[in-house]
Formats: sequence, C-alpha cells, structure tokens
Amino acid sequence: MYNDMSEFAVQYQITPTNPEAHLFRISCVINKPDPAGQRLSMPAWIPGSYMIRDFAKNVISLDAEANGQRLELEKLDKSTWQCAPCTEPITLTYEVYAWDLSVRTAHLDTSHAYFNGTSVFLRVHGKEDKRCSIDILPPEGDSYADWRVATAMSLLKAELYGFGLYQAENYDELVDQPVEMGTFTLATFEAGGIPHDIAITGQHRADMNRLCKDLEKICNTHISLFGELPTIKRYVFLIMAVGDGYGGLEHRASTSLLCSRNDLPLDGEDVVTDGYRTLLGLCSHEYFHTWNVKRIKPAAFIPYDLSEETHTAQLWAFEGITSYYDDLALVRSGIIDLASYLELLAQTITRVWRGQGRFKQSVAASSFDTWTKFYKQDESAPNTIVSYYTKGSLIALALDLTIQQATNNQKSLDDLMRLLWQEYGKPGRGLAEQEIENLLSELVGQDMREFFANYLYGTQDLPLEKLLKTVGIKFHLRAASSVDDKGGKPADNSNNKPVINLGARVAADPAGALLTHVFDNGPAQCAGLAAGDIIVALDGIRTNKENLEKRVNRYQINDTVSVHAFRRDELCEFMLALTAAPLDTCYLEVNDSVETQNVTARQRWLNQTP
Ligand code: ZN
Repeated sequence: MYNDMSEFAVQYQITPTNPEAHLFRISCVINKPDPAGQRLSMPAWIPGSYMIRDFAKNVISLDAEANGQRLELEKLDKSTWQCAPCTEPITLTYEVYAWDLSVRTAHLDTSHAYFNGTSVFLRVHGKEDKRCSIDILPPEGDSYADWRVATAMSLLKAELYGFGLYQAENYDELVDQPVEMGTFTLATFEAGGIPHDIAITGQHRADMNRLCKDLEKICNTHISLFGELPTIKRYVFLIMAVGDGYGGLEHRASTSLLCSRNDLPLDGEDVVTDGYRTLLGLCSHEYFHTWNVKRIKPAAFIPYDLSEETHTAQLWAFEGITSYYDDLALVRSGIIDLASYLELLAQTITRVWRGQGRFKQSVAASSFDTWTKFYKQDESAPNTIVSYYTKGSLIALALDLTIQQATNNQKSLDDLMRLLWQEYGKPGRGLAEQEIENLLSELVGQDMREFFANYLYGTQDLPLEKLLKTVGIKFHLRAASSVDDKGGKPADNSNNKPVINLGARVAADPAGALLTHVFDNGPAQCAGLAAGDIIVALDGIRTNKENLEKRVNRYQINDTVSVHAFRRDELCEFMLALTAAPLDTCYLEVNDSVETQNVTARQRWLNQTP
C-alpha cells in the first residue's frame, strides 16, 4: 500500500471479480464518517448525457462494517443510503452489475472491463471535495495476466498502463475519468506538449500510425484555436471497436468512443472513406469539448447535481458550437478538402430541413427539455422536436459568418471561443443563461437580440443561402432521390420526372415495409398510415422496403394508389394520394465567379490564407 493513506478521506478499491457474471466488486473506506449517520448515494445521471439513468439500480448487496462489526444501513430513496451513527472508520462493500456496452455506463466480460465512475463509485456525502484514492485490481487468474489499464486518472502508486493505486482530487474528478482494462491496442502521439494515448478495444486491423498522425493534426487545430490546452498531464482516447456502433462521451482529460471497426483506417489505405471521416469528426467533437463544456460551462453545471435533472437552455452553445467546429477542424487541418466539408455541412442542413418539428420547438426549448424529449425520442420526433446539435451547429455557422461580415473579417466565432476560455473556462466561472448571447452582441458590435429571438428562441430557418453567399458558396435545395439519400450531393437522377415520396421513413421487415416515422402532412399521414404499420401491397401487388419506393415512382403526381398494410394483426386498406417530394435535401457548391472579397472571406473562414 501507499505509505500514508490517511490523507485520503475516501479510499475506493475496484476489482472485476467475476467477469463471467459481469460483476465488479467495490469497497470504500471512509476514515471519518459523519457521526450522525453517514449518507451515501449513486448518481442518477452522467454529465454529457442528459437523461436520468439511476445507476443505483445496478448496485447489488451493499454492506457496511465498522470495527469488524456489521453496521446497519437504511435505504432513504432510490439512490441514497444512510449508515447507523458511527465514529469509527466505515468500510462499505458492494457489487455492481455491468453489462451495458455504451460510453455512458459500465461493461465487463472475460475480454475487457470498462467503467465510468458514475456507474460504480458511491458518493460519500460531505466528502465530495476531499481527495480520494482508487486501487484498481485485475481479475484473478492466468487468463488475465496480460491485461493493462488505460485511463487519464492520476497515478499514485501504479506504473503507466498498470494496475495499482490512482488518485482523484474530489468526487467530481473521480467520476470524470473512465477506465478501460484489457488487452487493448495502444499508440501515443504528442500535442500541446503532452502525450495523447489511443487505446482501442475490440478486434480491428487499424493503421495506428495514420490514426496518430490525423488525430495529432485535429488536436493541434483545436489547441491553436484556443491558444493552449487546459492543464492536463495526458489525454486518452478510449475507443471500443464493434461491428456496428457510434457514440462518444467527453471527459476532462479523455473521451470514450464507440465506433464501427469498418470506420477505422486500414493499413496501406490512404483515402479518407466516409466512415473514417465520421470517426475523425467524432474524435474532433469530443476533443473540442475538453474546453467547451468540460471547462467552459453553464453556471447550472457548477457544481453538477447528479441527483436530478439540471435544466439549461444553453446546450446549443455547448453541443451546437462543438458540432460546428468538429467537421470544420477536419478541413482546417487539411485532412479533408473543401468539397468533402461542404458535403458534410449540406448533410447537416438536410437533417435540419427535413424535420417539421423545427417549426414547433425552438433550439433553446430543445436544450431545456432534453431530459424528456431529445434523449427520449419516439416515432414522433421528426414532427415534434428539433436537435440542438444540428440546428445548434447551423446557428454557430450563421453566427461565425455574421461576425466575419460585420467586422470586415477582423473577428470570427473563434474570438468568442477564446474569450469564453480566458474569461470563463480557465478561471472556472460558469455562464449565466443568455450571457453568451450578450457577449456575441459585443463581439459583433451590434445588438444581436433579434437574431436569437428568430433562430434560437424562435423557430425560423436560418438565412444560410444569404450568409454562405458571403463566402462564395452556393446553396441548393432539391427533392430526396431515395429514402437513403442523405443529401450533400446534386441529384443523381438524370430524368426530369419529379420525385414522389411517401412522407415516411421505412425499414425492412420480413412481412413487408415497416413505417418507422410518418411525417406531418405527407402522403402517408394524409392516407391514415401510422408508424408501426407494415405495408404489404401496393396497388394489389406484394411489396417490400427494397421495391416500394421504385414502384411508387412509377405513378404520377396526383395519382391515388391503394395500399394494404397490417396495423397490429389487422389488414387495412388505405388510399394514398401521391404528391411531389418536398425540396428538403441540400447540396452546396463553391462559386468562384464572385468578388475577390468573398473568396478572401472563404479562405479566412477555412484558415486557408493564400
Ligand atoms: Zn458533444
């Protein structure tokens, strides 16, 4: 053991004791418990993922002991316990069931162990601000002899990547340092003067050198935007490669990512595939959060109250601005070219323009209600809500172009980010609601209240066509050419026949074509079709997901076609009146026949000064 453990108010120990049963064993020693009866609780949510998850539900057989005697524990609510009054050191022991493969929770089997502190560590009331130690032990048995540890947690008495003692300054830091154990692939590069590790779990054949080279460029792009890295000793990208998956969660000195192994770059391949571009965008997004949301934060998050929902209307700035810079950094760092970036941007515009919910919910309301709406989406989501990620990123784009234009290219959104870092993130000062909006008015040098009233608190579409023109980019809208058309490119149909669509999202089903989402006022909804219906025949002939669209497009606009569909187990007939598909699919083009000032503005926007 470490020589003087008394300096640690709480000493945790965690062992993946039973990987086959997905059980971690945790102990927690409290040296000076509250003599009136020590309270303990598990978080209800994890920062960065705004949904109540009640991590206490996975805590099994919690026991307390003092002086070799069992101590009574009383459960006070769904997440809180209280020990009987006691003045001696208390040892708590419990197990946590860990079988959720996501970046937000904990997962343990015979191949690896992963946990977020919020899923495994009890909060000791009254000791949240005290230093704590964490003893990380390997599972028992020869088959685990080659397991290592990847985490950004501070070493106390452990080798780098080794099992042993780690430490955290307080509970907030403890639960913001996820840990991976196993036989991951490891590579390291340097950026901002500190080592950055990439640890990949899961079978893969990734070109680690290329990944290091590209991530180094992205990290340096963000570091030079903010001017410096926050004070951290090392940064860790914890990546879980699976067959099909996508997700990321930001932390103060690391990020947990879930990706498809097909998105990793292969040895000997040098093109940026769509999948690799998606992965780099995700890494870029989470790394940008190292400043924006992990340190530049809403005042409501200082400190985090992990026992219940914490509302803020500001997530557009933390997720939207981050979503704007994630792909922008790919083109600014030279990893992708302008055409590739415009394709990504147009796909984001398409996602926003396709949701009728954007006229019913504002981005500010989407942020405030994320706990019950954005994070709990059902089949109505496209009709009822807007995403503060996608529309938030378009607000950021519009602001960036507005600032550049208003200041004759002397200032940009980058200046806001630097200001937020210097004045708020670095000194640990939280942002009051609407404070960013006031700062932006100052930066632009004009009252921006109308902009926010229209696009953030209101539900108007952003004036992107006009704004993109200032940087010599042409904005086009067309009809979707198929249900799988994500936008970003001109239409590939050469005939001039207008496209017809159902006004629904469709998935394959063994019985036919399953409607997963039915859009407001589209032909499907007008005919009475609903989400969950399975279309089995069109005009009396059997159909499925693969041929439904093609067959619909063999009719003319204003034709009415009979559709047979199962609702539950009842066969129903609907009359589908066909209409032209809406112009909701965007693509962008560089327009070089514009004034020199527009070309210069574009180069400045993309950090590509000639
Ligand atoms: Zn994010």
